[in-house]
Amino acid sequence: MTDCIFCKIAKGEIKSDFLYENDNFFVIKDLNPKANTHLLVIPKEHSNSLNEFDGEKYGKCLIKTIQDVTKKLGIKSYKIQINTGKEAGQEVFHLHVHILSNTKI
Ligand code: 5GP
Ligand code: ZN
Repeated sequence: MTDCIFCKIAKGEIKSDFLYENDNFFVIKDLNPKANTHLLVIPKEHSNSLNEFDGEKYGKCLIKTIQDVTKKLGIKSYKIQINTGKEAGQEVFHLHVHILSNTKI
């Protein structure tokens, strides 16, 4: 998607520090953190929201990515959030998973 901010970050067209990366996902800090640590787990492939995400193909990898990045950063206690749809507060229409934790990294 040409006009999508997270696609641009995925392609390196907009610079952002990747805290973690694998073949299918990357993890960055949220621009406007709502917790001590606020990360975004973002698939490299565009899908507008969880409704269109290919869970068959990427579901297990998404969970593994969350486990790996939190382990790598020493985050043992956290919550995850996926805003799906405008009425639920989704602002960026490229699927992303929020990781929110009181643990400072
Ligand atoms: P949503 O409400 O769509 O679930 O969350 C979008 C999140 O993306 C917001 O928490 C917002 O702060 C974050 N965000 C929007 N643009 C950027 C950006 O360019 N870089 C980063 N790191 N985060 C962004
Ligand atoms: Zn995108």
